[in-house]
Amino acid sequence: MGRQVIIIGGGASGMAAAIMAARQGAEVTILEHMDRVGKKILSTGNGKCNLTNLFLEKDCYHCSQPGFPMDVLECFGVKDALDFFEGLGIVTKNKNGYIYPNSEQASAVLDLLRLELSHLQVKIMTGCQILKQPCRKGRRFLIQSNYGDVLGDALILATGSKAAPVTGSDGSGYCLAESFGHRVITPLPALVQLRCAGKHFKQLSGVRCEAAVALVSGKKTLARSMGEVQLTDYGISGIPTFQVSRFASVALARKQAVRAILDFLPAKSKMETERFLTERAMQMPYLKTGDFLVGVLHKKLSAVLLKLSGIPAEQMVAKTPKSAWSRLADQIKSFEAEVTATNSFEQAQVCCGGVDTRDVMPETLESRLVPGLYLTGELLDVDGICGGYNLQWAWSSGCLAGIYAGGGCFVH
Ligand SMILES: Cc1cc2nc3c(=O)[nH]c(=O)nc-3n(C[C@H](O)[C@H](O)[C@H](O)COP(=O)(O)OP(=O)(O)OC[C@H]3O[C@@H](n4cnc5c(N)ncnc54)[C@H](O)[C@@H]3O)c2cc1C
Repeated sequence: MGRQVIIIGGGASGMAAAIMAARQGAEVTILEHMDRVGKKILSTGNGKCNLTNLFLEKDCYHCSQPGFPMDVLECFGVKDALDFFEGLGIVTKNKNGYIYPNSEQASAVLDLLRLELSHLQVKIMTGCQILKQPCRKGRRFLIQSNYGDVLGDALILATGSKAAPVTGSDGSGYCLAESFGHRVITPLPALVQLRCAGKHFKQLSGVRCEAAVALVSGKKTLARSMGEVQLTDYGISGIPTFQVSRFASVALARKQAVRAILDFLPAKSKMETERFLTERAMQMPYLKTGDFLVGVLHKKLSAVLLKLSGIPAEQMVAKTPKSAWSRLADQIKSFEAEVTATNSFEQAQVCCGGVDTRDVMPETLESRLVPGLYLTGELLDVDGICGGYNLQWAWSSGCLAGIYAGGGCFVH
């Protein structure tokens, strides 16, 4: 009989681990508490699944032990993940470095993972509830479930985080890891919308525009990002908001005040913006100020910025003093809002925090505390920025854990 590998959690990293462990000749069982595996994969990349990204560097990941993610990714990187997917039969599409399945269907990725699991005769137990904390029985692991007792020579915890719990990742994996003595850094929502104070947001709801977002706490800039920002009735969303959101989560959890500063003309400096407005005023003195920014910024946004600058919409541009353009430039370049909260785990794409990586070996993802126990994916204290980095993390950590749990060894 081959080595028996049990995997709790049939998400991205759990399925990758199962495939790799089975390829080493192990007998693999996935215990999944949902009615099917891989639910989260279906919602990735707006249903298109951004599998990975060709431009991957240290700054793409956050972890309390900053070198840990790259140590893992050096063992199993983007090229290895692409080979893995080619082996499954996925033809990929490269969109400026962002990698998708050629069909642009997340379901295709899940289908091919499931077909390979079936081909390798991996046993999948869906609707499986873990009744007691898993424990050691001699050198083996005992997992008591509603299906009965399951024994394994190696155990992989691939239960994900607390983000998007509707897909199955309800945070129960943290307790499983803690029961083996692992430290857990409080998980918080990341890649998530920010809720802001201010009555203007109702009026701004629905505006999408290019902007730079800076998060500031006291005098310190926590993070910056640029791209298409979405203004909503409660605050800000869109990719640049997501990219900085983890810093807001952490600061707010520490009870620090956080402000978001939006720059709606990031291509121009403050001085250039002021000059641009002054010249525009000379060019179009016949306009009412309410129409002054038509063609420059979204109409709803212009109305709010003019109001905040104290410029009445009915006033003629010709009658507007130069100092008003300076105030308007200030508002355009640094529209400020107090961040009161992030949206909840339900809306978050990932979590920051998780199992402390000091307790895990980066080359194999094996626990430093419990030999034969492996931890993968988002369960760990690693979060990537938007752009395929979180799935890459799931593939890298899952594949390595599967190989080593299955008794193999990985050489590029
Ligand atoms: C809307 C959305 C879009 C995203 N888009 C992208 C994208 O395009 N690109 C990208 O790189 N990343 C994306 N992500 C993030 C990415 O999907 C995750 O980082 C990745 O799926 C994490 O993999 P995982 O295996 O760690 O966890 P998950 O995929 O969450 O899998 C965990 C599995 O464990 C199961 N489980 C949990 N607890 C238990 C238990 N106690 N017993 C049994 N089973 C359990 C869960 O049901 C689940 O099936 C997106 C996330 C969301 C929510």
